[in-house]
Amino acid sequence: MSRSVLVLATRNPGKIRELRVLLSPWTLDLKSMDEAGFDAPLEEPGPGYVESALAKALAVCQATGLPALADDSGIEVDALHGWPGPMSARWMGEAATDQDRLHGLLAEVARRSPDDRRVRYVCVAALAKPGANPVTAHGECLGTLVEPSGTNGFGYDPAFLSMDLGITFGNASDDAKERVSHRARAIARLGESGAFEPLLMG
Ligand code: IMP
Repeated sequence: MSRSVLVLATRNPGKIRELRVLLSPWTLDLKSMDEAGFDAPLEEPGPGYVESALAKALAVCQATGLPALADDSGIEVDALHGWPGPMSARWMGEAATDQDRLHGLLAEVARRSPDDRRVRYVCVAALAKPGANPVTAHGECLGTLVEPSGTNGFGYDPAFLSMDLGITFGNASDDAKERVSHRARAIARLGESGAFEPLLMG
């Protein structure tokens, strides 16, 4: 039986690596945007995760005529009312690196909320299929912001002490992060909702 194609609507290598593993229980033929012939910029109109995830999935689905999955995610500092949230990739400007943002976030929290370092990762996954309404699912995981430790994962992971694991995502194996992460929970919910079933039936 031939596998149904699903395009991953992201250019973030960390997300692509994780999504490939998280989607492996479904026998899908996962394609990058390049492989699907989509080379336009991916707009994130916001203001929230849902709007941006839907916009990315729909843009790729409409341009390629193929089902597309997008993830919009971020880290939220509880004491700072969820900041930087959906702006997690951009709050320091387009030129900043993951390292700049990691150390920038630690500095902001040390300055603005030194005694309350509770954070959460949030992910909204959106699946768009030709001729069908798009669907979304939400996932979260809780943690505390600590001095960076470990080099696994990406983005803010070295400073995210996971409540589920008791270690930073930077020190967690891929397997461990994929059991508890916001992205894992959002993809699992999409799967539980049956969103992938029509793809599998072709
Ligand atoms: P966006 O979804 O492309 O807007 O970017 C999400 C941003 O949130 C990433 O660039 C990271 O900075 C952060 N982020 C989201 N999920 C994770 C994760 O699993 N680990 C580390 N950082 C993450």
